[in-house]
Amino acid sequence: KEAGKNGICFYTSDINDRLVHHQKITAQLRQALAEERLQLYFQPQIDLNTGEIASCEALLRCFDEDSTMISPAVFIPVAEKSGLINRIGDWVIHTACQQMQAWKGTPLEGLRVDVNLSGRQLTNPYLSQEILESLERFELMPSQLGVELTENEVFGSDESQTRQLERLKEAGLHISIDDFGTGYSSLVYLRKLPVCCIKIDRSFLHHAMENKSDMAIMEAMVTVGHSLGLSVLVEGVETEKQHKLVKNLGCDFAQGFLYARPMPAEQLETFSLENAVKMLVTP
Ligand code: C2E
Ligand code: MG
Ligand code: MG
Ligand code: MG
Repeated sequence: KEAGKNGICFYTSDINDRLVHHQKITAQLRQALAEERLQLYFQPQIDLNTGEIASCEALLRCFDEDSTMISPAVFIPVAEKSGLINRIGDWVIHTACQQMQAWKGTPLEGLRVDVNLSGRQLTNPYLSQEILESLERFELMPSQLGVELTENEVFGSDESQTRQLERLKEAGLHISIDDFGTGYSSLVYLRKLPVCCIKIDRSFLHHAMENKSDMAIMEAMVTVGHSLGLSVLVEGVETEKQHKLVKNLGCDFAQGFLYARPMPAEQLETFSLENAVKMLVTP
């Protein structure tokens, strides 16, 4: 069915393995949802001009019965196929808003949280309405929430899906294109879409250290982003050398293990950028 109507394919043990994997993960996810074994981790996004935490990205974690963590890289694709992603996505939005409300009156009050959205969530015609209602219920400003979508998820979308994004942007939400450079990277769409920021995929940074053409691509992406009035974030900064590179390229924001790993909310509350990193970041 996946390959389209009237296609035939041969049944192999590989397909069987995939089916078993899919069923196993789906069952684990259902149970985790029911037993509240999902958790949001938060990873700071650094403002390269001030060295401060500008915002954070909410990254979903799923724990098995025996507390082993299942990676989102494994369970998100399965959730997208099974349709569970809609319930999971609702949980993520609700929990992010609840967390921001809990931060009121603490130093983290007002910190923007960016959640990842799946393309499939955009096909829910009530998504933007539901997000705005959630913000209202927790008495938050729309500008406190951000959404991240990959290029293919938005660029492949139809008009009604783009309109939902437009509604969110008009309401004041922050909208980022995630893993930029790995999908269609259509500049025409980029200009048309209601977007605030591009997040350059970490593979470019990693290759740019050795590879001149990847470096050139990164330079071009920064230039394009800025000339369209967008801010530019680079993902996956792990070393000081990479930090210097993204700073020299004129990127606005950075995210990566060098500054902080994704962490539970309580840890973020006591986290402050190490002085060394702060010095590294400030001009
Ligand atoms: P993403 O949105 O591109 O998130 C960034 C990923 O890069 C995260 O992986 C993060 O832990 C990792 N990362 C951050 N800094 C570094 C670094 O310096 N080096 C390296 N090697 N990796 C770094 P994570 O948390 O495993 O998430 C993987 C993907 O799963 C995410 O990629 C996102 O596409 C998806 N995902 C996570 N949470 C959600 C969610 O709530 N909803 C949806 N739809 N997708 C989610
Ligand atoms: Mg993301
Ligand atoms: Mg992603
Ligand atoms: Mg990414």
